[in-house]
Amino acid sequence: MSNIEFTRLHIGGEWVDALDGAEFETVNPATGEVITKVSEAKAADVDRAVKAAREAFENGPWSRMKPKERAAALWRLGDLLVADAEEMGRIETLDQGKPYLAAKNGDVPTAAGLFHYMSGYATKIEGETIPISAPGDYHTYTRREALGVVGLIVPWNFPLVITAWKVAPALAAGNTVVLKPAEATPLSALRLAHLALEAGIPPGVLNVVTGFGSGAGAALSVHPDVDKVSFTGSTATGRRILEAAGGNLKRVTLELGGKSANIIFPDADLEAAIAGSSDAIFYNAGQACAAGSRLYIHEDVYDEVVAGLVAKAQAITVGDGFDESSEIGPVASKEHFERVSNYLRIGAEEGTIATGGNRIGEKGYFLEPTIITGTSEDARVVKEEIFGPVVVATKFTTEAEVVQLANDSRYGLAAGVWTSNVATAHRVANKLRAGTVWVNAYGVFDPSMPFGGMKESGWGREMGHEVLHDYTDVKTVCVSIAE
Ligand code: NAD
Repeated sequence: MSNIEFTRLHIGGEWVDALDGAEFETVNPATGEVITKVSEAKAADVDRAVKAAREAFENGPWSRMKPKERAAALWRLGDLLVADAEEMGRIETLDQGKPYLAAKNGDVPTAAGLFHYMSGYATKIEGETIPISAPGDYHTYTRREALGVVGLIVPWNFPLVITAWKVAPALAAGNTVVLKPAEATPLSALRLAHLALEAGIPPGVLNVVTGFGSGAGAALSVHPDVDKVSFTGSTATGRRILEAAGGNLKRVTLELGGKSANIIFPDADLEAAIAGSSDAIFYNAGQACAAGSRLYIHEDVYDEVVAGLVAKAQAITVGDGFDESSEIGPVASKEHFERVSNYLRIGAEEGTIATGGNRIGEKGYFLEPTIITGTSEDARVVKEEIFGPVVVATKFTTEAEVVQLANDSRYGLAAGVWTSNVATAHRVANKLRAGTVWVNAYGVFDPSMPFGGMKESGWGREMGHEVLHDYTDVKTVCVSIAE
């Protein structure tokens, strides 16, 4: 067992066992070995956490804190994360499998940046003064108010970063939080709760209930005293959450799956397009909701691009995240490894495996970066989200055709366009039904850029000032000032 400090539920500022004493194992996907046991929250524990969050919201110091004090606490949390990068990075790699250098130098500073960026909004949540047309004299204005207790449910692909996407704006807006990390990767959220206390975020403001989706997750989404749920995960689970949220009509944000199209036009800088398209799918072993998993290549450059991409895929070092030469790690769990492996078998039947397609080694959940060609557009590997290091490459001839192909998906999360023609870039970006379109780039994220899905990729946005709307409600105040 590895040395892990925080493994119990975090409720009302205390570290507590689950009421029934239940625990579950969290596993290192690079070795298949148990890292540690973590408390398993069920409905009664979630209820306890919601009560603590409610108390902190209604009566606790959080609601009485001045915006600038909230801002300072969030900024301090960002600083503490930066200072904690080695340990937080170690935990993230152990639990999730991603390369340690990526976790320490990428995920942890990114999460810190979220807290720094969002801390600024704590002092800038403003309403409007409205000159109404009703007869009489009225002074009318709006207030943007915190929603109350928000439930945050996150997946295992970027455990810390996606947690920060949600916790930072939720707290900046003055809400209190019950956070449920994914069962495969519970450790970084627990450590974050410890840092939050140290930063001066009062007890009860950020509660963490580790556990399973069917237990803690379901209890949180159905809880009548939770005002909002922000969820990131699969579209299937998103639907379940929506149903559960119907009971008290809680607000819901859904960041769901994707099958993002990445389009290479013949006038693109091909070297950049090949390198960018390789990162677009293989980064984080393809476990990125926005991964460029459908690659559309113009027929004039198709052979050259596929050959370039095959060479890139074959040059990637896949290995244990603690080995400094590893560029990508294993997929995050045994269950997910089996799911992606099944898609590799399906892909071999539906098309041709240009490279990859196999497991690497006997231990841990490592997969070869894989490129599939020669599929039809209704193939399962083209339609369904694989969420692994697997891209399907398809040839196109005209712009109209590729826009139609790209949009022919139930998802609409992200897209990429590679071209040197500025008019093509903007025209195609306008036509794509995707929440984010990158041009001559892929996978650029920033706390200031709204991110989220169209169609079945979800509702609402993370990051940017847009996200504040998802964590506040508008109150209209109309005051008679007639003499
Ligand atoms: P998942 O839906 O299985 O689980 C996500 C979270 O939901 C976990 O914490 C899980 O415990 C919880 N959960 C499961 N069932 C639940 C239920 N009935 N009620 C409440 N909570 C429940 O997804 P996953 O497999 O962990 O993550 C992969 C998926 O997440 C992919 O589809 C990916 O595209 C998506 N994703 C989307 C974004 C985005 O921003 N759009 C980002 C990352 C991942």
